[in-house]
Amino acid sequence: MKNRTQHGRHMIMSGMIAVSLLLTSCAMGSTSYKVDQLEEVSSSAESEGTAAADAAVADSAIGDAGKGTAGKEGQNIGKEASGKTGQQAEKDEPSPTPTMPPKEKLNFDLSWEFAEESKIHTDPVTLWHAREPGRKNIIVAVNAGHGCKGGESEQTYCHPDHTAKVTGGSTSAGATTATAINSGMTFDDGTKEAEAVLQLAGLVKEELLKAGFDVLMIRDNDDTQLDNIARTVFANNCADCHISLHYDSTAGNKGFFYIRVPDNASYKAMEPVASNWERHDALGEAVLKGVSENGVEIFGSGSIALDLTQTSYSTVPSVDLEVGDKSSDHSEMAQKPVAEGIAAGIEKYFRENPVKDGALAKLMKQSTGALSGSAEAADETMETEIETDMETQNEKTEESESIEK
Ligand SMILES: [Zn+2]
Repeated sequence: MKNRTQHGRHMIMSGMIAVSLLLTSCAMGSTSYKVDQLEEVSSSAESEGTAAADAAVADSAIGDAGKGTAGKEGQNIGKEASGKTGQQAEKDEPSPTPTMPPKEKLNFDLSWEFAEESKIHTDPVTLWHAREPGRKNIIVAVNAGHGCKGGESEQTYCHPDHTAKVTGGSTSAGATTATAINSGMTFDDGTKEAEAVLQLAGLVKEELLKAGFDVLMIRDNDDTQLDNIARTVFANNCADCHISLHYDSTAGNKGFFYIRVPDNASYKAMEPVASNWERHDALGEAVLKGVSENGVEIFGSGSIALDLTQTSYSTVPSVDLEVGDKSSDHSEMAQKPVAEGIAAGIEKYFRENPVKDGALAKLMKQSTGALSGSAEAADETMETEIETDMETQNEKTEESESIEK
């Protein structure tokens, strides 16, 4: 569909558009970064997803979560695609440190492991920095599912070694390829899943920043041109864990659950699953506890096993969270306890699994100034540029949903 040149151009423009959207939202919502630690949660639940339950989810909005791969290093954060550094410094917000802007853009790097398995990766992501004091120096990737126009017209491999899926989902077991990213489901009240999870992602981000985490927002607008693999590859290379946010496509207001790694020998022997599945499930369990202890209704035992692209390509602890379904209340008020619980669960996970030389340290080492922010670059990036023709294609996004796995 698009050639590389168009990709490059699109990347620049998208970055600019994303920037202006971000500035707008910043101006409207004031963020306070006081540090107060969330309470640790503890409880537990292991569930056995029944076959019926698994089947139900199989047709739900799950599989879109991420499909990416794991990473190698070597990337140029914040510059690549455009020749300008993709980051920007906010003028109206104090910097976390004299040299570090509150947030900055990071661009996709084709030299990253599994990057070439992605078909859609022209947009940057945004790294939000926690304020001192209390900064943990840990980056959490928050991936609001869906929201990538045209994503259904591309196919990507379900597994990095191109073997077949071991469970059903939006894509059935045995398939080797799946939709690069689907558009998600529509709630009973007509709201799109992509919109509801974007709102939730914003709440989760605020909770995480308050707790001292840096946050890699994979998507912060309606149309982010990153497929599931690209999102996962970003998380692998720029974060210490990855959570994707979804609502299931069933209608029953069944509650929260996470997707655990299927207990399948060949799947658990495939890299990078083999080296990471225990961490994926541990993160899922920690988040489940956090959410459960914050009073959120849980579906069954709290997890269902599925072979997801996100899981298949993840090299950092990674989990797909299904926070409700089509019939669930997705208002901010209903999402708030979910967001608090997710942040508490992540905090619990990292208390039990401390990060040593994490993503932040790696990024700062690799980038030449990209993480220290330059006002000059920021000004450049903020210039408005109206783009036409480039992303005029598909408006066709929201149809039915199909979960991709
Ligand atoms: Zn979904």
